[in-house]
Amino acid sequence: QLVLGIETSCDDTGAAVVDETGKILGEALHSQMEVHLKTGGIIPPVAQRLHRENIEHVVNEALLASGVTPHQLSAIATTVKPGLSLSLGVGLEYSLKLVDQYKKPFIPIHHMEAHALTARITEPVHFPFLVLLISGGHCLLAIARGVSDFLLLGQSLDEAPGETFDKVARHLSLKNHEECSTMSGGQALEHLAQQGEQQKFKLTLPLARSLDCNFSFSGLRSHADGIIAQKKKEEGLKEGQIVSCAADIAAAVQHTVALHIFKRTHRAILFCQREGLLPERDAFLVVSGGVASNQYIRKVLQILSEATGLTLCCPPPRLCTDNGIMIAWNGIERLREQLGVLYNTEGVGYEPKAPLGTDISDQVRKAA
Ligand code: ATP
Ligand code: FE
Repeated sequence: QLVLGIETSCDDTGAAVVDETGKILGEALHSQMEVHLKTGGIIPPVAQRLHRENIEHVVNEALLASGVTPHQLSAIATTVKPGLSLSLGVGLEYSLKLVDQYKKPFIPIHHMEAHALTARITEPVHFPFLVLLISGGHCLLAIARGVSDFLLLGQSLDEAPGETFDKVARHLSLKNHEECSTMSGGQALEHLAQQGEQQKFKLTLPLARSLDCNFSFSGLRSHADGIIAQKKKEEGLKEGQIVSCAADIAAAVQHTVALHIFKRTHRAILFCQREGLLPERDAFLVVSGGVASNQYIRKVLQILSEATGLTLCCPPPRLCTDNGIMIAWNGIERLREQLGVLYNTEGVGYEPKAPLGTDISDQVRKAA
């Protein structure tokens, strides 16, 4: 089985060919990060234009690298939800053109499902497992019971942690920092935090008293923003100049985000273990999404996993951020079980908003 995966849900144009063993035969990725860094955020029509400019050569590059011709493909899998409408539309339109041209089955993919299943490419992660997805657009805890069978335990009530890192980094003007100028906000904050002291600033831990597995990051961000604004004033800085204590602020933000993620994930593990929702032996905690590349957060989650008897599994960073490989792999997993494989694409569309699985967050709260 050979699946071509295509990803355009946000700001990365990705394509890859993966076989049924998880072997990555060819891949290509075009990131728009530099363009969006300059404008201070993603402007959907700009993202759409860049996807349009790049999709053809990204797909061709992945196919060429794989040595597979379109005729040899078993199916084409493409992200259709959730994401930015204008971005999703480009990938879907291009995929349907290929599907039509080469008469291939089409597999519509849920972007978060793909993030969750990525771990199974490289590790023997069996269902059911607990999954924590932390990225620039999402933050959720779920139990994966099967390829397309998820129970949602909790999610962010406001923004995602990657978004928080990106906004704080912008407020700290880290793109003017010589070491961090080409990094994403999250990378820049992690880099700077290594030179800082986390206890210099004390930020309030979000949702410290709430009994569920939901997340919240906007309060913590406002708190950090307030500190930055005050320091800028004290130091008499102009727009774009970096406060002297930037590293300490970065360390405090990273630490508080990590501690919040730790507490909510701990709650989820206790709930799953009490309710018998995870295997008694060899249960996995899978952590994915761009923020999962953060070494400090990984370390905290490693400690948690060991203490609760779970095995932590974080895919390598290039598989944690958006890519075509995870979409192709999700296609393989769906093809194997004949789940949502379409032989007729009439009426197929994209969905900007789409929850992952069945929401049982109320049950989590009541059980506490
Ligand atoms: P989504 O996958 O939810 O649609 P996205 O495309 O923004 O959103 P990813 O590509 O998975 O998400 O990840 C990008 C995010 O990860 C950015 O917000 C970035 O700041 C963050 N990030 C990347 N590296 C790190 C790191 N080392 N530490 C913390 N955050 C990081
Ligand atoms: Fe993503």
